Parts: sequence; structure tokens; C-alpha cells
Amino acid sequence: MRHALPVKWDGHPILWDTDQGWSSVSDLMICGGTTKNGWKGCEQCHTQVMPRTINGQVCDFTPHRLVLFRCMTCGYTTVSELTGHGWREWILDESDYGDQGSNYLEQGTLI
Ligand SMILES: [Zn+2]
Repeated sequence: MRHALPVKWDGHPILWDTDQGWSSVSDLMICGGTTKNGWKGCEQCHTQVMPRTINGQVCDFTPHRLVLFRCMTCGYTTVSELTGHGWREWILDESDYGDQGSNYLEQGTLI
């Protein structure tokens, strides 16, 4: 079955912030016209249109944050993961939307 969002992260359930839901990255605009995440356009279709974003939390032993970005033009999706060493960026592919979720040992690409 294909989920709209990854259901697991390295085997741990993900709680997506569906109360707040999807928002536009332009909501995060700060002074100077740059965004907090440094969006420079979609790497896949090269649109400059801001992606949609949704926040999530990995229910690991030590819960940590995910921020998912999805291009509204082509569906290209990346996830920023806040680890103890700072933010890491991941590109999601089709396999990440299955019942097993995203598992970096087998799938996904570290940017
Ligand atoms: Zn795109």
C-alpha cells in the first residue's frame, strides 16, 4: 500500500503534524527574501515555486523532528531530519511510501 507520507523512519513510527497540516514554505519567509531552509528551486523540475511543507516527529527512543518538503509541480520530496549533529537532508523515492516506511540502510539518498 502506498501512503501519502512515509509512515516510518528507520523502523520508528512518524507522527505527522496533520493538525497544522501542509503549509507553504513562503509562510516561513524571513527578511531578505530567503527562506530558513535555503530553497533554491526544485532540483528535479527546476521550478522556483515554493514547495509545500509539513512537520513530523519520529517516535524513537529520543524523539526528533522531521520537516518534509514537496514540490507542488512535480512531487519531488525531500526530508530534513534534525539529528544530534544538526540537520540532514534526504531525498524520498517511491519505496519510502510503503508500509515499511523510509529506511536509510536500504533506501533513500543522503544528499
Ligand atoms: Zn519539482
